[in-house]
Amino acid sequence: MTQKIHTAVPQLTVVAGSFDPSGKITIVTNMRHLGEPNRVIFDHKTNLPGKPIWANYVKGVVKNFPGGVPGFCAVVVSSVPAGGGLASSAALEVAMFTFLEALTGDFTAKPPEKSLLCQKAEHEYVGVPCGIMDQYASIFGTKGKAILLDCRAMVHDLIPFEDRKIAILLTNSNVVQERAESEYPVRRKECNQAAEYFNRSSLPAASDMPPLLFKRARHVISEIARTKEAAEALRKQNYEHFGKLMQASHESLRDDFEVSCEEINQIVALSMDYSQQHDDCVYGCRITGLGFGGCTISLVIKDELTPLMAYVKGRYQYSPEPSFTVVKPSYGARILRT
Ligand code: ADP
Repeated sequence: MTQKIHTAVPQLTVVAGSFDPSGKITIVTNMRHLGEPNRVIFDHKTNLPGKPIWANYVKGVVKNFPGGVPGFCAVVVSSVPAGGGLASSAALEVAMFTFLEALTGDFTAKPPEKSLLCQKAEHEYVGVPCGIMDQYASIFGTKGKAILLDCRAMVHDLIPFEDRKIAILLTNSNVVQERAESEYPVRRKECNQAAEYFNRSSLPAASDMPPLLFKRARHVISEIARTKEAAEALRKQNYEHFGKLMQASHESLRDDFEVSCEEINQIVALSMDYSQQHDDCVYGCRITGLGFGGCTISLVIKDELTPLMAYVKGRYQYSPEPSFTVVKPSYGARILRT
């Protein structure tokens, strides 16, 4: 995917710490329900991927930080829900990288390179071949703006995305995106296989593409076109059109890319049912993140938020209940001086 639209959310991951002259690195996280110890101790010789799994995100960042890292003790405190499609892992990587910049005074990695180094940490230490958008948005997030990123050129435009009458609603299905980790590399492989058909020298050869690969390709190609159109719609504050594109994007993710799930589809359907009955007050609603659970993102007329949430919660047929958060486009990572 060449272009993507994203924002940073106001939820935070904070890292605080100081040097440890012993040379050891000790990190503690406040995140609950990890199912594994929330403390890790290692040094440069033992800095290899392993258990606890959550520590691999930070170990990878330590490994890739330019200029070397001294011993330190740090605490990670986060309000970003894990596995909810809000990129808690990218927030953790970028927060750790930013902490290391503050600790060492080494700012040699410029922001685009910093996002690439955090992505590399996830590729190498967690084994997830993630894209760049999450790390990029965690660094370049700007209050009141959406980020239109060209993932190939690694450049972005900021588009104003703030309107007193409109709210961005995240509905968390609280379905953990367990399948996403294994399915994401499969989708990448399928896209690469589909691309090979396009590289063949004659069109009849391209038409031999198996139906599954055709669907994957159709999602990617149509999503690129939708993203361009959505950026234009947002620039013109044409939320109706922007919302229709969000809707089309959800359908494509659901049917062609097959990365949604029943719970998420029900949240989208209920939101749009409510919208139909109330003056089209939900412009659009789509799954966000890697898929197979996590959150939907909706663009909603602010005055309708409370009844919309009650409608979705009251008719939702799965357990656990969904939870709701209203977000605003916010700043990316910063150093907080005390
Ligand atoms: P997402 O990035 O969409 O929230 P992922 O499955 O990619 O979902 O990443 C979630 C994982 O990242 C968690 O299971 C945990 O291993 C790690 N993680 C994220 N934030 C923290 C944190 N603050 N402390 C410890 N681990 C974290």
